[in-house]
Parts: sequence; structure tokens; C-alpha cells
Amino acid sequence: MSRRKNMSNEAENTAHATGKDLGAPPILLTKKPTRARASAGGRTKTACIRTFGCQMNVHDSDRMRRMIRDAGYAEVLRYEDADLVVLNTCYVRENAVDRVRGHLGELNRLKKEGRVKKVALTGCIGAGQEARDLERAYGIDLVLGTHNTYELAQFVGLPGMEETFTPELPGTEGEHTAFVTIMTGCNYQCSYCVVPSVRGRMVCRPMENVLLEVRRLVESGTRYVTLLGQTVDAWREDGRRFCDLLQRVADIAPRVWFTTSHPSNMEDRTLRLIGQKDTLVKRLHLPVQSGSDRMLKIMHRGYKSERYRRKIEVFRDAVPDGTLSTDIIVGHPRETEGDHEETLKLVEDCSFDAAYVFKFSPRRGTEAAELPGTVPEEVAQRRFLEVLRAIEQSAFRRNRRKIGSVEEIYIRHGRTGEDGKAAVGETWSGHAVHVVTDAEPGRYVTAKIETAGPHVLYAGVPFGPPR
Ligand code: SAM
Ligand code: SF4
Repeated sequence: MSRRKNMSNEAENTAHATGKDLGAPPILLTKKPTRARASAGGRTKTACIRTFGCQMNVHDSDRMRRMIRDAGYAEVLRYEDADLVVLNTCYVRENAVDRVRGHLGELNRLKKEGRVKKVALTGCIGAGQEARDLERAYGIDLVLGTHNTYELAQFVGLPGMEETFTPELPGTEGEHTAFVTIMTGCNYQCSYCVVPSVRGRMVCRPMENVLLEVRRLVESGTRYVTLLGQTVDAWREDGRRFCDLLQRVADIAPRVWFTTSHPSNMEDRTLRLIGQKDTLVKRLHLPVQSGSDRMLKIMHRGYKSERYRRKIEVFRDAVPDGTLSTDIIVGHPRETEGDHEETLKLVEDCSFDAAYVFKFSPRRGTEAAELPGTVPEEVAQRRFLEVLRAIEQSAFRRNRRKIGSVEEIYIRHGRTGEDGKAAVGETWSGHAVHVVTDAEPGRYVTAKIETAGPHVLYAGVPFGPPR
């Protein structure tokens, strides 16, 4: 839940920072020994992976990291130390592409100086329309989309692979948390979104394949599994639906969460399961995008705000202590002041615990990019801040209700702070908590919540040792 931390001081177009934040530093490799060392002139070859975008991209990077490691590369953090640089990219908003261009420019220079040997562009931009132009302009050696990231294996000297998601190539095996992809692509056609064109139509991973990966992860020490997909609740197989899969996964893994869900697919029984099943984190991320039915129609979201409100009622009823977050776009073409008021009303009614608020960004090839009725920048900025403020108020109000409660806290990021005794954890209700402990990530501590801010709770000294 580090996503909550920077809600108010975020940059221009997005409020909230998380895995969706751009340019996250590479995650360390799992500590397993490498098969062999790839060498360049007698020394070990090096690779640097830079990830831009959402959890899906972080997960794709994890899998590519495994391939590179298996090929014997050592991972480095700086471009200038790398023989191979992989930029795994996001395409959802225009500023993401601009940022990647900046990195490509720098890499092109380093290549000319002989410091970087090869550059690979992967992920959503690799699958997008600009990919070929970028390849030519910056002399990129390998361009892969989101469907064929497995081709990186051959590029780094491993035997070819035919499939992207296999239990043989899990994300972060051996780490305390892991992402498990259950579906790729998306069958919706939201007016503003490039995902269907870069990630293709929905493909659901077979249940047995998912369960096998989860079992292996748990056996190798994973304590927290997040199921991933653009619309996870659209997952289905032979009459079984997402709720059935979730239940099976929650029977195997000790802690489970999922993202992202779509209001049209969300079943009430899934919402009730969140409340019933001990191993499920009581946190729901359900993007609404707008509170106005007129805008939801223009966006082709396929539901009205009334359906969304009903789903939230079921969730709040089934999971009274749970946390609810959403995505909202402001300034989509044709959004009027009345539409904006309806979004503010929905924000008030739903009492969100957190939200990503995005200013509309026109994406080449999407319907919205061609629509008349552009919202002027200063109007979009004002609406953006108004929605943000409303979210912060409701988050702060709800967080304060946790003061005084004693919580079991899962340590997500441990050993931080100057003395290594600060940690960021997560309660079962899905709240982010700062806690003073030197507990390792993946452990639990129990502590009392002393204070609360709009984005995070603060706990006192834990009772007893970590578990
Ligand atoms: N599949 C998820 C869903 O439908 O809710 C989310 C996918 S998208 C990668 C994540 C979020 O980015 C969306 O929920 C939307 O709020 C935002 N987004 C997508 N395209 C956008 C655009 N062109 N401009 C601004 N925000 C955008
Ligand atoms: Fe994009 Fe809509 Fe699909 Fe989400 S549901 S990925 S916003 S097209």
C-alpha cells in the first residue's frame, strides 16, 4: 500500500504513487545460484532492467529477470555498467512514452560510447504503434510486445520458449511476495485505453496451471500472492468463474490479494468471499473512472454508477473493516461541470480509502483521442485537485477510525530508516502502516495503531517478537 504515500504531492497527471509509478529501480534477483556465468571477453556479462508502469509490468520484469539470470548475467543498477539494458515500458499515458524516450536517448549515447552493448525495448510501448519509429530513431536491438516477452530467452542465449506464463517461470519465486498472472489482455474497449490494442484480447490461464504455480511459490517460501490481470474478475474456464479460482488459491496461499477488477464482472459472491476467507486481504480495488452515467457511456465502461454503488454496498456490508480504492479519470473529452459534480458526489457516497486520480491523456489510436469536446488544461487541473482533495478527506476520515485498534501487520518493506528499525506493513484490512520494528519482510507483528494520516497509519512498538 505504498500507493497511498504520495497522493497529495504527486506530479501533474496522476495522483498516487505505487507500482504504477514510473522508473522504479530494479528489484534484486532472487538469491538462487545462477546456472552459468555468461561472459564477455572473460568477464561476467551484466544486465540492467528498468521497469515503467503497473504491477503487470513489474511482474513481466520479474520473469525477464529470471531469464537473464538463468542465462548467467549479473544484474547491475546503472546503465553504464550494463552490457544489456532492458526497458520494460508502459503506454497508458502520454507522459510515460515521453519519459521512455528520454531514457532511450541516453542509452543511444552510451551505446555510441561503447559502454552499453545492447538495448531491448519491451512491454506496452514495444507492442504499440510508435515501436518501429523508436527502434529506428534510437538503434534499439530488440523490440518485444507484451505477448512475446518470452523471446528474450533466445536473445540472451537460452533455449527458446513458446509460452509466456508457465509455472516454470514464476515471477519472484523464493521471495516473500509474488505476483501470479491469471489472465492477459482485455475484452473491453474503453474509449481512452490503449491496453486492448497493446495487450490484445483476454486469454485466461488454466486454473490448474495457476494453482501449480501458487503451490510451488508457497513451497519455496512465498507468503503473499497477488493475482494479476487487467480484469481479473472476468477470468473464467468451463463454467468456473473468478470466485472459484480465488477460493482455491486462498486455500493454498497464506495471504492473497488480487487486482484489477471491473465493476461489470464483479460478482457479489466474490465480495462476500473477501469477508469470509481468512487468507484474503480485505482490500478491494474497483476502478469506477467517473460518477456520471453520461461519461460512463461515452467511455464505454458498460455499467452505470448505480451498479457501482450497489457493489460497494455489498462490499461494505460483507467486509465492514475492509478498504476500498478506485481509479478516476478527470477531463475526459466531453466531461461537463455537471459530470464532474457527479463524480464528486460518488466519491463522497463511496467513502474511498484511497484512489488513483488521472488527468485524461489522449492516446494515439484510441477513440477518445479523436473526440471533440476537449477539456481545457486549467479546467482539468482544477477538477483533478478537487477530486484528489475529496479522496484525501474521506481517506483521512476513515483512517482515523483505526486509531486504538490492535492489528496483525504483515511486514512488506522492512529494515528501513536510519537505524534499520522502521518498516512498512499492511493490516488484514489492507491499510498501509508504518511500524517501528526490525522484523524481516514477510513476517507478522502485532501492534496498536497510535495515529493516522490520510495515506498511512502509524503503529506503536509491537507486542512480542515477529512471527
Ligand atoms: N483494467 C483496469 C480497469 O479497467 O480498471 C485498469 C487498467 S489501466 C492500465 C489503469 C488506469 O489507468 C485506468 O483505470 C484508468 O483510470 C487510467 N487510464 C487508462 N488510460 C488512460 C488515459 N488515456 N488517460 C488517463 N488515464 C488513463
Ligand atoms: Fe483498459 Fe477498460 Fe480494459 Fe481496463 S477494462 S484495461 S481501462 S479497456
